[in-house]
Amino acid sequence: MNDDNMKRGDARSFSPVDPEATWLSDLKRKRMAGPSFSTKQGSWQGASTCAVHAGTTDDPRTGAVGTPIYQTSTFLLNEDQYDSIHDGYPRDRFIYTRYGNPSQWAVQEKLAALEGAESAIVFSSGMAAITTAVLTFMDKGAHVVASNELYGGTYNLFNQELPTFGMSASLVDPRDFEAIEAAIQPHTQILYFEAITNPLLTVVDIPRIVEIARRHKLRVIIDATFATPIGMKCLDLGVDVVVHSASKYLNGHSDLIAGVALGPRKLIDQIWPRMLSYGGSLDPHACFLLERGLKTLAIRMRAHQESAHALAQHLEAHGQVERVFYPLLPSHPDHEVAARLLSNATGNVTFVVKGGDEAALALLNALQLPKQATSLGGVESLVSLPFNSSQAGFTQKQRIDMGILPGTVRLSVGIEDAADLIADFDQALAMIANTKESKNA
Ligand SMILES: *Cc1c(COP(=O)(O)O)cnc(C)c1O
Repeated sequence: MNDDNMKRGDARSFSPVDPEATWLSDLKRKRMAGPSFSTKQGSWQGASTCAVHAGTTDDPRTGAVGTPIYQTSTFLLNEDQYDSIHDGYPRDRFIYTRYGNPSQWAVQEKLAALEGAESAIVFSSGMAAITTAVLTFMDKGAHVVASNELYGGTYNLFNQELPTFGMSASLVDPRDFEAIEAAIQPHTQILYFEAITNPLLTVVDIPRIVEIARRHKLRVIIDATFATPIGMKCLDLGVDVVVHSASKYLNGHSDLIAGVALGPRKLIDQIWPRMLSYGGSLDPHACFLLERGLKTLAIRMRAHQESAHALAQHLEAHGQVERVFYPLLPSHPDHEVAARLLSNATGNVTFVVKGGDEAALALLNALQLPKQATSLGGVESLVSLPFNSSQAGFTQKQRIDMGILPGTVRLSVGIEDAADLIADFDQALAMIANTKESKNA
């Protein structure tokens, strides 16, 4: 958005606008992108160029090339800071680290550049980002229409936390647009969906969700953790606010917990005071780690997709495997939506092994490369079973109704070479086939 648009946007809230009211453009507080203090602002086209350079500073004192870690809780107050407090733009100055810190600004600017967003706020977890963003746009008694395929923490927010605030949620099939529209009530304020769901990797047709939201004047919030900005630019599709768990692909090294909310400055400025109240700000050292991890986001996503796609194809052709879910496979129910919307199909592959959950457990123990752990998006492959981890709270019948069949394996493919992963899966699948045979003999 250019500065002219922003001025017009500000003016609209004072309407009817008197064309003679030139004082409007004299307002001290203009909505700029950011906040930012970087010294390298470019209009880079490539995601990797943004990932490496956006948000970085040439440190004037030392010339350090790496982004310094500003491990401080507070900042000296001078005239400029007092003015910012007095005139209502404290988000644009350093005052206290929960309000803002150069390490946060650096990584926020990198994330915003990657997402094509005007502004971003980093949080101490993905859940902090989600809770803060959702509650920002819900008034007393408000209602949200959300996907029935949700991250567990978000499901709990909608089902357990919102009712305690007198708010409510309706969960609907993300592919059933009539059901989504039918669930909208007079007090609905938000449509909330995950771009790619877990574990079935449903790819949500976001332009259709946006179209429904526009007609009903609702905000759209999308959790794009699985898609990443490399896979999908949600804001370009008309989404109001994008949230991510940065603990996953964005950081990419399974060594920190963080989250981010991104969007137009006008909306992110509304999230900011809620972040101050709820307190989920991100520590400067974690900001540094996230900023460092992000530098390789684009090349990591290419490697994740390459190995995941090769492994998915291999598993689909394997006699011990019943079914594979991966958006790039023509057998995936959302293959067409994925081809239209995704420029990277993520590194997650879900598959159903023959022999049910017992065979799946044996497979996990026979695998040597993927580590048994929950979470995803790290450089190392991780594997887990929904039945005893992410969906353990449901009965087997409920899981089957959700499409999670016995024997379902959740695999986050790392950046290891596809040939090594394939060889490991081949030996593990052969081992469980042999055990089954010797049991039957
Ligand atoms: C992990 C995850 C979250 C929660 O993020 P945390 O960083 O663990 O708080 C939210 N949404 C999705 C899709 C996730 O995978």
